[in-house]
Amino acid sequence: MNGMCAPDFVPLLGFMKAMEPDQGTEIIYGIRPDFRLSYFNEAWVRFARDNGGSPSLMSSECLGLSVLDVTPEDLRPFYRELFTRAMASVTYRPRSISHEYECSSPEKYRRFAMNLYRLEGGQGLLIVNALLVEMPHEARGTVPVVPAADADAYLDHHALVIQCAACRRIKHQQHPGRWDWIPAWVRQPPERTSHGLCELCLNYYYPAKG
Ligand SMILES: [Zn+2]
Repeated sequence: MNGMCAPDFVPLLGFMKAMEPDQGTEIIYGIRPDFRLSYFNEAWVRFARDNGGSPSLMSSECLGLSVLDVTPEDLRPFYRELFTRAMASVTYRPRSISHEYECSSPEKYRRFAMNLYRLEGGQGLLIVNALLVEMPHEARGTVPVVPAADADAYLDHHALVIQCAACRRIKHQQHPGRWDWIPAWVRQPPERTSHGLCELCLNYYYPAKG
C-alpha cells in the first residue's frame, strides 16, 4: 500500500525532506505544470480505499491523468486558477499558498487544509492536504433528510438532482436556497445527478476573484 511516483518526478521530491516530517496522515500529491498527477503518497491510497475510491486511484494507472479531469466541473476553473497561481508564485518553503475545502463522507463532516508548495523552477507543485476537522454530521446540528416520498422535490426541470460539489448537499427545488443533507444520496447518488455549488460553499470556499 505504497505511494506511487512517475520516474521523472522523483528528483523533485528531494524537496519533501525539507518539509515537516510526514506524519502519515497528510494526503500528499504532486502535479506537473500541465496538471498531470505525478506522485501520490501512502495516505492518498489509504484515503481512496477507505472512501470507496476505484482501484485505479490506488495504482500507477492514475499517474499522468490531469487532476482537473477528476475535479467536479464546477470547481475546475477555481482549481485551475489556484494551481496556476501557486505554480507561478515566488513563495518558497516553508511558505505556501493555502486553501480550505470540505470533503465529507455520508457519516462524517470533514474539512481539509490544502497547502501548495511550488517545486524548484516551477516544475510542478506538491499539494499537502491535512485534516482540520472531522466529526459526525449530527454533532454540527446537521439534520439528515430521508427523501422517500418527497424525492420529486429534488428534481429540476430536466429531472436532474443537483448536488453541491463541495458539501455534497442536495438542492431542494421548491425552496430557494435550501440544500438538504441526504446521506443515502451521498452514499449512492441517483442516476441522474448533476453538480453545482450551493451559495454557502460558493461564498465560503470558492469566492469569485475581484
Ligand atoms: Zn455546498
